[in-house]
Amino acid sequence: MLHNCKNLLIRCMDFRLNNEVDRWTKESDLFKGGFDVVSVAGASKNLADGSEEIKNSFLKNIAVSVDLHQAERIIIFHHSDCGAYAQSYDFNFLKKEKEKQIEDMKKAREIILEKYPKVEIVLVWGEMKDEQGREVEFEVIVK
Ligand SMILES: [Zn+2]
Repeated sequence: MLHNCKNLLIRCMDFRLNNEVDRWTKESDLFKGGFDVVSVAGASKNLADGSEEIKNSFLKNIAVSVDLHQAERIIIFHHSDCGAYAQSYDFNFLKKEKEKQIEDMKKAREIILEKYPKVEIVLVWGEMKDEQGREVEFEVIVK
């Protein structure tokens, strides 16, 4: 029996994002046709800067979505005030954190495209408006 879905969301595991991500995935056209979820600390951070072993295990999750479920679009979602990034970096300014994370998302995109040149990859930044994640502003990164 076929069980396909169109999209894969790679997100950070942070529980504070759950309500807003839930709302976003229901409202946004990006998730039409259903979506798989890879939820790990720092989202695509491990793909950008992890060991070969970690990268390969990450790519195996992506393979299930793309090869088995036929996902055509991958949404990479990072967010401000991320604990995984706080462990590795000391950001004094939100702008710096955002720049670094976008750099990593772009690196992750290249790594995925090497293996899956046909998938569409969308990078999304989530700015937490409060520490609890009651409101998150979602921004598609186009540059
Ligand atoms: Zn996080």
